[in-house]
Amino acid sequence: MMTENAYIPSSGLSGKLKRFRARLFERDPIHIAPDRLVVSITFDDFPKSAVECGAAELEKRGWRGTWYAAAGFAGTDTHHGPMFDGSDIRRLADSGHEIACHTLNHIDLGQTSASETLADVKANRDALTALGYHSGLPAFAYPFGEASPASKRVLARNFETLRGVRPGINRAGDDRNLLKAVGIDGGESGLATAKAYVDEGASRPGWLIFYAHDIQENPTEWGCTADQFRDLLDHVSKSGANVLPVTEAYRTLTSS
Ligand SMILES: [Zn+2]
Repeated sequence: MMTENAYIPSSGLSGKLKRFRARLFERDPIHIAPDRLVVSITFDDFPKSAVECGAAELEKRGWRGTWYAAAGFAGTDTHHGPMFDGSDIRRLADSGHEIACHTLNHIDLGQTSASETLADVKANRDALTALGYHSGLPAFAYPFGEASPASKRVLARNFETLRGVRPGINRAGDDRNLLKAVGIDGGESGLATAKAYVDEGASRPGWLIFYAHDIQENPTEWGCTADQFRDLLDHVSKSGANVLPVTEAYRTLTSS
């Protein structure tokens, strides 16, 4: 059911230049040297299908994920399907998952002023509190992966990690303020790419962050099926990676 059209950030030259500037400025290089691949499984926005399938599949393997909540979606229907509500947030937090921040209104932070960015982030915190979540939110993900030097600067003061959607494995020198992440999407070819990143990380360790959206029979182009999700987790499991939520991974990786 299409109750909200998906916003697509500019893919033209101006969008490319904006993304280039966002990568180049306000960088905070991470100092990590893991001797074993670290994987974080994260979820953006997020729909109930991700909670139902994703959380169960992680927990079956003794793992926990990071859930970047855009609280404006709570209780609504989007192109991803029915979205999380307060009971999902409480159930995830009670089972040891990490709840993280993704703005209230899922706005494009490549376009907003610093004060608009902070206001939407604060409103997201307040809305999550109203839904019954009372702990901190150390991790943040940019909606659509869109950042700007201004948004990086203000968010870096408010969060331990800021995650984008540019694919890759995070290694020494990569940017805490715009961490790389690989989508669990794009059908069979996308899943093959995701598995190839696991293989690369197993032979040359780093921090590999995945993000998922809907997990359902007929997924959106940003989603995957339950079989694809399980297949990727099995691949991660076989790689011997240490699977941790984002903040725990970051603190572990930067403490040694
Ligand atoms: Zn999102």
